[in-house]
Amino acid sequence: MSENKNQFNVSLNEEQSILQQSVRQFAENEIKPFVLELDEAQKFPIDIVEKMGNAGFLGATIPEQYDGSGMSISDFVIIMKEISKIDASIGLILAAHHGLCLSHLFSFSNEEQKKKYIPELATGKKIGAWCLTEPFSGSDASGMKSRAVRNGDHYILNGTKNFITNASYASTFVVICIVENEGKKQHTAFIVEKSYEGVSIAKKENKLGMRASDTAQVVFSDVKVPIENRLGEEGDGFKQSLKVLDGGRIGIAALSLGIIEGCLEASIKYAKERNQFGKSLSEFQATQWKIADMSTQLEAAKFLTFQAAYLKDNGKPFGKEASYAKLFASELACSASSEAIQIHGGYGYIKEFPVEKFYRDAKLLTIGEGTSEIQRLVIARYLLNEI
Ligand SMILES: Cc1cc2nc3c(=O)[nH]c(=O)nc-3n(C[C@H](O)[C@H](O)[C@H](O)COP(=O)(O)OP(=O)(O)OC[C@H]3O[C@@H](n4cnc5c(N)ncnc54)[C@H](O)[C@@H]3O)c2cc1C
Repeated sequence: MSENKNQFNVSLNEEQSILQQSVRQFAENEIKPFVLELDEAQKFPIDIVEKMGNAGFLGATIPEQYDGSGMSISDFVIIMKEISKIDASIGLILAAHHGLCLSHLFSFSNEEQKKKYIPELATGKKIGAWCLTEPFSGSDASGMKSRAVRNGDHYILNGTKNFITNASYASTFVVICIVENEGKKQHTAFIVEKSYEGVSIAKKENKLGMRASDTAQVVFSDVKVPIENRLGEEGDGFKQSLKVLDGGRIGIAALSLGIIEGCLEASIKYAKERNQFGKSLSEFQATQWKIADMSTQLEAAKFLTFQAAYLKDNGKPFGKEASYAKLFASELACSASSEAIQIHGGYGYIKEFPVEKFYRDAKLLTIGEGTSEIQRLVIARYLLNEI
């Protein structure tokens, strides 16, 4: 599925058009009928996640040798967009599982760790979560309090991680914490299995949007983590996390594309159907401009997202471009969903129409995996260091 690896093109190649079609069909058949029910009940869609595993979405970019689908990042963008167009909260489950947990594991594990953990995650037999955020450290990960203390052939891990996506359903966590060595605080990443004694799920969050995704606090109390579960060396965890977040941001941008495209399609449909003053809404220039702006900005967001994916697919630096894409697309998801409600009038405010949910789901995208302010900081740092 990786044909456009060597050319940057927002238009899909033939294989990608087929992929898009098949994911679209999956989302229409397997997700759409349940969207409202899952959202109302804040119910994690375990059956759908299992089906996504069977379809190869959960291990999309993992090589086939580890039971993944061997797709490109651009292909993953297509999967994320199509799933999120129908239910962004399922896109978020995929973003945390694949874009954070699996991506961290695959990028920084040794061969033994890969063989042990990746196939079950890539096929969806197990669900993954990624634990960076803490009660007192969000944007500033350097302030984290979780500690792992070396004790012979294992570490003892203590700490609390907040807002962890998939936490209640995940079996495998990548946890970033501090190992203190000769007075130096070194961020270090570990693979922690939920079955280890001392791992517990504390508070499950009740959220504005993304309600079918699970968000919970995870507590680690004197958890014995074998030394062979350390990812890389002591002190590698901070750099690893920044790299993982760079890649994850392409996924969040793709998730945003799904919301924007969903808003555009719903708005066009509604504007043609609804009549006021003896005309369809689509005949009012005010509506036409909103739709034209939304579509123009969507194309720009696609360009930024596929550009970042193209750079990553080709082994080129992509951090700045991933932040461009995440910042632009997530902010646009918020404004486009607001405009889409405006086009729908009062009907946009009620749950029978999809734009109400897009509006609630979109806001998370300007917060998770680095807020919009942090994206601007990242971009500015690249620019100021480059010149
Ligand atoms: C639904 C959901 C799912 C999540 N999933 C995960 C997950 O799976 N794993 C995980 O580890 N985390 C997860 N998070 C946490 C998320 O990544 C953090 O919420 C985010 O990084 C912001 O941290 P914070 O909430 O502590 O806000 P803070 O860092 O306290 O920021 C508060 C405000 O201050 C601003 N601010 C902070 N520092 C600066 C600065 N230097 N300059 C300018 N403005 C600044 C921020 O932009 C923001 O507007 C999730 C969060 C939510 C809500």
